Amino acid sequence: MKKLLVKSEVPDLFVEPYITSAYRKPFCGPLQCIKYAFTLHNDVGNFWTHFLTLVIWITWLLFVMQDYDLSSDYYGPLLWCWIGCCSYAFFSSFAHMFSPLSEVMYHVCFMLDYTGISMYMYGGGVAYYYYERPLTLTFYSWEGVNIGLQVMVTMMALVFSCLSRFFWRRYRYTIRAMSFAPPFFINITPVILRWFECQGEECVLSSLPYHAYATLFTFLTVLPFVTKMPERLAPGKFDIFFQSHQLFHVSAAITTTSQMKLLLLDSRGRQEILTKNAQQTGIFPSASKLYSLFFIIFAVKLCVVILLGVLLKMGIVKDNKRKDVKHPKSS
Ligand SMILES: [Zn+2]
Repeated sequence: MKKLLVKSEVPDLFVEPYITSAYRKPFCGPLQCIKYAFTLHNDVGNFWTHFLTLVIWITWLLFVMQDYDLSSDYYGPLLWCWIGCCSYAFFSSFAHMFSPLSEVMYHVCFMLDYTGISMYMYGGGVAYYYYERPLTLTFYSWEGVNIGLQVMVTMMALVFSCLSRFFWRRYRYTIRAMSFAPPFFINITPVILRWFECQGEECVLSSLPYHAYATLFTFLTVLPFVTKMPERLAPGKFDIFFQSHQLFHVSAAITTTSQMKLLLLDSRGRQEILTKNAQQTGIFPSASKLYSLFFIIFAVKLCVVILLGVLLKMGIVKDNKRKDVKHPKSS
């Protein structure tokens, strides 16, 4: 196995704040990247936290499919939300495994990671809209406006988080976190408004604890990501275990799992009232519409990543951490 490197031996591009050792040798091949997943280094926890999460969510989905008809129009948003969640766990694992391939791949991998998060936000937003919306507010009867808003804010989140790799170096982590704040607030607004509007059974939904967990863990997710705690307090002490990015991954996985659980409960718990409302208003998710929209939006987001990758390759945009990207001496 290749020997691991200390911070001064790797180009600035690959250096993470307050992580001083256990770096993989950059510019290695794909096979070596896969081998690295089975050795201790400073990114291995980041890979496994989301790869295991992906395995758990896919297994859970197989059980859910026995209980819920996910091919039906009514449960379509639940399925696409689940696919969005799995896409971010997949792209995150992919990014943490293959980022040492090259300078361009390093950025492309993490921009794909943001694409996954953006698709999760979009899928979640659509599911929240259909299953969580209050039925008394006119704004939520404008289906096109609500779905269009989801498309717009998640697209902007992707663009700004990708651009933060090339511009605004000092504020890059804050910009990435803030990019995803508008979709988060838009997603949870129907729940908050419904809380004020609810009557009878709608006020005592069994999903309430999961709404609380999802909100609490969202804030706990942002905290280590932006502050770089705990390694900021003791650089070098959290290089392999318990670094902020691992805490961010675990907390994000708990948030998403709570959201999946609450959507499972609310979609079934509100099925009767939502179906009745849909018959009156015509607001009903169509499986084919959701399917086409999801893929079109995903394709457009991929094009954004490819375009930025090409601009980076051509030198039109540059990494904002870059001082000197050199191949390290062979070891
Ligand atoms: Zn990550």
